[in-house]
Formats: sequence, structure tokens, C-alpha cells
Amino acid sequence: TSEPVDPFKQGWLKGVYNEKAVTDVRTRFPPEPNGYLHIGHAKAITVNFGFAKSYGGACNLRFDDTNPTKEEEKYFTSIKEMVHWLGFEPHTITYSSDEFDKLYELAEELTRRGKAYVCHCSPADVKRGRGQLGGGEYGPRSACSHWSRAVDENLSELRGMRDGKYKPGEAVLRMKQYLATKPEEYEVSEEDSPAAKKEKEKLKSLSDNPALWDAAAYRVTKNNHHHRTGDKWRIYPTYEFTHCICDALEGITHSLCTVEFETLRPAYNWLLEELDIKNRGSDEKGPMQREYGRLNVEGTILSKRRIMMLVEGTTVGNEPESNNTAEDAAEDLEELSLAEEGDEEHPSAAHSLPQTQTTTTTNTRRIPPAVAGWDDPRLFTLVALRRRGVPPGALKKFVLDLGVTKANANTMTHSLDASIRTYLERTVPRLMLVLDPIKVVFQNLPDDYLEEREVPFDPKDKTKGTHKVPFTKTIYIDRDDFREEDDADFFRLSPGQSVGLLNAEHPIRCISLHKDAGTGKVDEIIAEYGKDVPAGRARIHWVGESAAHHSPVKAEARIFNPLFKAAKPNELDWKTGGYYDDLNPDSLVVFPNAMIECGFEYIRDNAPWPKEEGEAKGTADKSSVRFQGLRTAFFALDSESTGEKVVLNRIVSLKEDGGK
Ligand code: ATP
Ligand code: MG
Ligand code: MG
Repeated sequence: TSEPVDPFKQGWLKGVYNEKAVTDVRTRFPPEPNGYLHIGHAKAITVNFGFAKSYGGACNLRFDDTNPTKEEEKYFTSIKEMVHWLGFEPHTITYSSDEFDKLYELAEELTRRGKAYVCHCSPADVKRGRGQLGGGEYGPRSACSHWSRAVDENLSELRGMRDGKYKPGEAVLRMKQYLATKPEEYEVSEEDSPAAKKEKEKLKSLSDNPALWDAAAYRVTKNNHHHRTGDKWRIYPTYEFTHCICDALEGITHSLCTVEFETLRPAYNWLLEELDIKNRGSDEKGPMQREYGRLNVEGTILSKRRIMMLVEGTTVGNEPESNNTAEDAAEDLEELSLAEEGDEEHPSAAHSLPQTQTTTTTNTRRIPPAVAGWDDPRLFTLVALRRRGVPPGALKKFVLDLGVTKANANTMTHSLDASIRTYLERTVPRLMLVLDPIKVVFQNLPDDYLEEREVPFDPKDKTKGTHKVPFTKTIYIDRDDFREEDDADFFRLSPGQSVGLLNAEHPIRCISLHKDAGTGKVDEIIAEYGKDVPAGRARIHWVGESAAHHSPVKAEARIFNPLFKAAKPNELDWKTGGYYDDLNPDSLVVFPNAMIECGFEYIRDNAPWPKEEGEAKGTADKSSVRFQGLRTAFFALDSESTGEKVVLNRIVSLKEDGGK
């Protein structure tokens, strides 16, 4: 037996550690509390918490709550729950908003140092100054008249912004970065020493980076009531100003983020260097930013805006949704949005995105919701995956098995399902469950016939124990396992034929059948059981009927299939509602009369197998009650279950091709 390999102590992650091999590693997971987390965030959580844990350090949960317009209490709560569910405990829960006083103080300090100015240009003028011609084209850049303002004037204007002198859009505090750098400043000449040449090359690369074209630090927001700080502030700091400073204030050593932030790394360092938090060109002091690839999952929708359309329905046509803001466009581009609403200054919003026109149509179409909520098990939000019964350990394993490198990890929902299947195979007990029961009555057995079958929860692992299953005069089998017409290729039950039963001693043979007079459907099979019945060619699952054993347990079983017919729902028409026509009519299949053997009550109420790290004992976390239905699928208890009603969710099918 070899030691399990720690994925954090090799490859790219090890390299990141070695670049700054400190003993007090400190990381953070910094979500914006403006939506529910999705499977992509499971990677960010696993990477940040896992990295710190592996190197004996700690990870904070930081709510990056600097955009008051979009934040809501329910998101804070859900994010905390999901981190816990994934089995991690934050060292400290922090809020960027707790640092608003210090951040503002540092904005004044930066201004005093001559490294920030208050600008009154319109968004269009700002773009022009930045040389943005649209469509990713650039022309010459130039600083505006506000660039050369005196320090004292900037300070008093910043205070003016703070004190309500300006309305949204009328004033922005901009960092004085490299917008005004002239090509002649980095033009290399013959006389330059090698060191001077290197300096000039560095200057050129900095001044070529749109993230350093005097990005915004503070702006006056439209809705300025903040969830935590109330009406204290009219101005709020941008991501670019806040993130690196909060990292520094929290003592973050390794600030791990996704690759789309790589072009922002020089801006991250610039601000910390200007404030003497970092030394120029060195990661020794202060936090160090490094970037890992995003997790992109095809086959579902992860964009907040689009999930919102699925959850709430939408009206398309002459609607704000179809006004393509930079943010919308960014989400369309594989959801690489760094932009905040109205934040024209953001480099990703302002320079790399296609400029789309607002289309005005007179026809509107109301599109109804497609799912029941953010935790609808057909979605890939973390609340939905949890509700479906996916074990958190399976998600973490999936993320790490894909590998953490600089490259984006592109995968598909069915690869995730395969990984969950493999994980469950080894971890959950097995039970017999019948989705669509037909009654089978053995005419050769007495009414009170009872065989108590001792059945292991996991035939491959005796330590998981056994339980008793009643075999009785009446049992139930799955409708799929019976055919009225026999067929040479059909190995299960049909008139005159016999079949074996899992966990029972003898086979059974169908003698005759009874049909419901109304529906014409077979509602009872008359059969015989015993050692004289010829052996069948297959073995099927069943559930016995015994009040004393509480068998069967009645349940509603919900089977989930892909929400869309298209393999790449991101490519559907989300603007005019075409996505709605691609919905898979079979994405939810309900079996209202399913039956489970009595072993279910035992696993539900006693749950002897280890729960996942973040899961509560017993049924406090209903979705932690999981089992493999023999020959059917993996199931978990749904959150809607009560003491009286059992609702089951299919976690995944047993085989890749789906089946039930
Ligand atoms: P959304 O995809 O919903 O727009 P976001 O990027 O706005 O998500 P944040 O709350 O800002 O979400 O993200 C918190 C952290 O999670 C960030 O560090 C972000 O880089 C990371 N993250 C977001 N999406 C992914 C993903 N698909 N893969 C890996 N990390 C991600
Ligand atoms: Mg995003
Ligand atoms: Mg974001």
C-alpha cells in the first residue's frame, strides 16, 4: 500500500507554493454575494481551501461585497452553507465592506501620493481616451484634462464624491497608471545599457496592458444602500481597488484566482507597490496573485443571468434583457464576466467585448419558468447538486482529477456523472427498489408465507453489515422486467417463463396474468415459486409485502435527464427565447408509486456508513441518505420528504447510457 498522493503537493500547485514557500500559508475564497454558487465555484473552493490545508495554513471566506446593487442576504447564507457542505471551515469569515473605512483612507493616501485623480469624463470619453475604437481595435491613447489636476484638488474632489456632491457617472476616482505613457518613453536606443533596455521593455508591456489604463478605483453608485454598511457610503471601491488591498489586510500569502484575472495581475501589484505594501517587482512581501484555469462544464447552463431566466421565466422582445450590456456580452463569452453593472471602466468590459446593438422589437413573448428553483436537481448550482444527492466528496474528487493547472478544465455533464457514479459505487449501500411496480402473487405459497432473507448492504464489503428482507406470498417487481409477449431475446418474466430473483433462494414462473378492466394494463401476475421452478436466465429485483417488516416503503422517485435537447445549451438562442423550444420534455420523469424494501428505513434512520465531512448525522441533511437501487440507479432522499412521504431523487444512472 502506497501513501495517497496529495494533489496539492505536485504539479502547478506545488510550483505556486514553491514560489512563496512560507509556513503560514493564507488563502481566501472571495465570492461576490450576488448569486448562488455553481459547480465552477466548487473548483475555486477546493483549490483555495485545499491548498491552505495541504500546506498547514488556513483559508478565509471573504464576501466581496462592494457592489450594493446586487447583494442579498440569501446569497451570503447559501455561500456559507455550501463551503461547509464541501467539508471546509473558513478560518475567518470576512467582508470587504468591513474594510470600507481603511479602503477609503488608502484612496486618499494614493491621491496624496499623486497616483489617483478624480475624472468627470463620460463613459464614451473615457473609452476614447483609452483609444478604444470598439470591436477590439485600438487607436492612440491620451489622458484627459483631469489627469493633470493638482493633488489638493483631487483630494477635495474625492471628498466631494464621498459627501454626495456628485451623481452616479459624474465623477470617478481613477488610478494614475500608464494611460499617459508615451511610446518615446520606452523606445529603445543604441546608447541604452542592457539594464535600461530591460526597464523600457517592462514599461512597454505595462503601458500596453488595458488593465493599467487608469482604471477606476471608486465610483458613485446608483443604488447606494449597502446590505451591511447601510447608507453610510455613496461611493464604493471597484474590484481592482479592493481585492488586492483586502488580500493584504487579511495577510493573504497566495491569492489564487482564475486565469481571466491574469492580465489584471500587473494592476494588482501596481496598487500594492504604490502603497508600499509590496516591494517593486518582488512577491516576497505582501500577497502574491497566481491564476489557475476555470472549470467549464458543457451540457448545462452556469451563467447567473440565464439560470435566472430558467428559474423565473422571462419576457423577450422589447425588453431590457435583450439590451446587450457589456456584462451580458461577457457572460455570453463563456461567462468570463469581470464587469460590474455600470462599470464601464472595467478592462474586460471595456476592451475585450464585442459591442452589441440594442434591438427594438414590438413583439414580446412571455416565457414561463423551466425549472422549479435554484436548487432544482436538473441544474448545476451547488444547491441543486446537493439536493440531487451528489456527495460533496465526489465533486472535490472530480475537480482534482481534472487537474489544477493554468489551462481551463473543459468538461461535460456526463463526465461529471461518470465520476459521481464511480464514487458512489464504493461508498453507498445497496437496496432493492421497484420504480413501477406490478404485483406478483404466488399461488403455491400459503397466505402467511415468510422467508426472512439476510441481505448484505454491500456484497463486496461485509463490514457494512446485513439486514433482513421479507420474501412473502405477494411481492412487487418492476413493470420493465415483465413482458406479455415472450421473445427469444427477453430473459426476464413473461407468461410460462421463469426468472431468478436477487437475494431470494428460488426462481419464479409466471402462470397467468390479470388485467385492470379499465386500463387494460396488467395489474397482477399469478406465479409460482420454489425449487421445482426451472432456473431463469436472469435475476431481477423485487420488494416483499409484510406489515411487520414495514415493507414496502412507498416512495415517489424522480428521475432527472438533461434539461435541454442540445448538447451545448449555451449555444442556443438566449436573446429571443429560442432556448425554451429546446427544452427536453423528459428532463423530469416521476414514478409516483415506487416501492423500496425495508432496508431503506434502516439506512435512513441509522445511516451507519460514514457521512461526508460536512454532512450532519441522521437525516438532518436529507440528501446524505443515499443508496444504490439494485439494477435501477443511485438515489438520495429529497429535501421535500417528510416522515410520511418519501421522495427520492436519482443521483445518477447505473450505466453511462442512462437507462432508468
Ligand atoms: P459567475 O460564473 O456566476 O459569474 P463569478 O465569477 O461572478 O461567477 P464570484 O463570486 O466572483 O463569481 O467568484 C468567486 C470565485 O470563484 C472567484 O475567485 C472566481 O474566479 C471563482 N470562479 C467563478 N467561476 C469559476 C469557474 N467556472 N471555475 C473556477 N473558478 C471559478
Ligand atoms: Mg463570472
Ligand atoms: Mg463576479
